[in-house]
Amino acid sequence: MAEKKYILLTHGGAGSKNEYQDGARRAADVGVESIKSGASVMDVVCRAVAVLEDDSRFNAGVGSHPRADGSVEMDAAVMDSSGHFGAVAAIPGVKNPIHVAHAVTRTEYKVLAGQGAAQFAKKAGFQPLAAGQVTARGVDFSTGESSTDTVGCVAFDGKNFAAGLSTGGIRGAIPGRVGDVPLIGCGLYAGPAGAVAATGNGETIAMHLTAIRAYQMIERGDAPEKVLEEVLHWFHPVDDAFGLILVNRDGYAGGCNRTMAWSVVWEEK
Ligand code: ASP
Repeated sequence: MAEKKYILLTHGGAGSKNEYQDGARRAADVGVESIKSGASVMDVVCRAVAVLEDDSRFNAGVGSHPRADGSVEMDAAVMDSSGHFGAVAAIPGVKNPIHVAHAVTRTEYKVLAGQGAAQFAKKAGFQPLAAGQVTARGVDFSTGESSTDTVGCVAFDGKNFAAGLSTGGIRGAIPGRVGDVPLIGCGLYAGPAGAVAATGNGETIAMHLTAIRAYQMIERGDAPEKVLEEVLHWFHPVDDAFGLILVNRDGYAGGCNRTMAWSVVWEEK
């Protein structure tokens, strides 16, 4: 397959409804516009993820699902193929955790958590999110419908790769619970050969070191579709929701063992 001019994929999380596809597509379009405007690949994925964080049908940003005590805490991370990584864990009170994670890449730290992360975001002037502004409307909580979901993006801009993720976590988890999203090599990974972003049961994703192992398969030359097929086998469809998007220089794959809204935009060289 020939190398592409660019490839960008977005997802709305394992368990997100297929009818929310338009949201994933809108985020992908914003990402592609950013590539065309010459933004860095890390900016590209952050802008696309922020569109999904602002869409309350998805479990991230304003759509974040509540913890067991009704509070909202979010995880987000971003990584590029030049080795920049930044993440926030269990951060309360910010509208776009992905932008805070991006800001962490410019510090001496890799992960900021909890109140410390919130203070960092406030000091840097990021837009706050009051508890009353959270309006998760992706699932009907009254039916006991299960909810995981994370939003994500992977991009190749013709030169570099990046991956970004953001989530409200698993609904009903205890405050302080942190999933795979801000753990490097678990929820996401990007390197010179490609980028990977996962979604689903964070504990299982982390125990499999999912993203780094998927990346290593890309690195050794496996086609994205083959990597996806193999990684899907690590997750039991009944116990563990799981979805993945991944990209290399000339191809991509996306899929899930549940429903998942996802989108891809690419152009031939
Ligand atoms: N992986 C996320 C978490 O465990 C949730 C999800 O992607 O569905 O926090």
